Amino acid sequence: MKNWENNVRRVSPYVPGEQPKDKNIIKLNTNENPYPPSKGVIKILKEYNADSLRLYPDPSSEELVNALADRYGVDPSQIFVGVGSDDVISMAFMTFFNSDKPIIFPDITYSFYDVWADVYNIPFERKPLDNNFRINEKDYLCENGGIIFPNPNAPTGVYESLDKIEKIISYNSDVIVMIDEAYIDFGGESCIPLLKKYDNLLIVQTFSKSRSLAGARIGFAIGNKKLISYLNDVKFSVNSYTINSITQQIGIEAVKDESYFKETTNRIIETRERTKANLKKLGFIFPDSKSNFIFASHKEKPAKAIYEELKKRRIYVRYWDKPRINNFIRITIGTDKEMEKLIYALESILIG
Ligand code: PMP
Repeated sequence: MKNWENNVRRVSPYVPGEQPKDKNIIKLNTNENPYPPSKGVIKILKEYNADSLRLYPDPSSEELVNALADRYGVDPSQIFVGVGSDDVISMAFMTFFNSDKPIIFPDITYSFYDVWADVYNIPFERKPLDNNFRINEKDYLCENGGIIFPNPNAPTGVYESLDKIEKIISYNSDVIVMIDEAYIDFGGESCIPLLKKYDNLLIVQTFSKSRSLAGARIGFAIGNKKLISYLNDVKFSVNSYTINSITQQIGIEAVKDESYFKETTNRIIETRERTKANLKKLGFIFPDSKSNFIFASHKEKPAKAIYEELKKRRIYVRYWDKPRINNFIRITIGTDKEMEKLIYALESILIG
């Protein structure tokens, strides 16, 4: 090993799902939305004046922040935007998790949390979900340096009630509790109303799933004014120009088109419910999902074999060879047609 390597910040990076080049693959592996972005977004891209790219973008993304504030009924000073919710959560880890006490999150959850904790040298503890993949709220009623979990959780899809979450937030008034609502628009109830009661709550959402904009990279946080101003201080100390000017405009259009948002999220919910019934008929079991994916295990056939067989048939789902979840596949909800093809492929794999 070279001497300079002693001073390198070494981390095991997050491993994103595969992004195959082949367009003929049925891609149900990274929870993207199967429907295109709203018409307003497409119009912006068609009519964009490239000359404006000479200029730096608005560093505070003011118009996008205002559009989000309008949509969610909060003051613009309560909104922080970033390059996908990954960027927002990473900034929030840097800003709020600075205690010597460990931050806590579930043992089965978004696998980026421990990576950020490592890269920022934040101690952390994982609290085991119960056998039904539910959070045991008592695990979170203890001394800690901060809390984060998604609701609905990933990759399980399990949604926890606001009552349970409120108990955790109210007990932990001395630390920041972050609720990652990446999948909240697929049937769950957001924690946003709790912001009126708790100043230690930070809610993070994304345009990647329910607004069909994973490729544009927009995420945002909602919290009280003071929290957001601390976040902005850190952001402006790392990179002032995070969201590029085209993306800021796209984001505004996506937020404004409420009817398209409702139409597409409802369509995904309906397809998900139909898929649940079809998977059950084939002998799959799964925790109930309120997200745009289903985390399923088969009563007989090992998940890894199903994952590989599907891949051979050009259908990609996600599989993790990790304790407790290595007999599950996570299936993103696609279009009805894609899900029909999935069920057909599963029938041939399981029944022959
Ligand atoms: N949180 C959770 C729970 C996720 O599953 C994802 C998607 N990988 C993200 C955050 C990040 O999404 P994005 O950066 O695209 O907003």
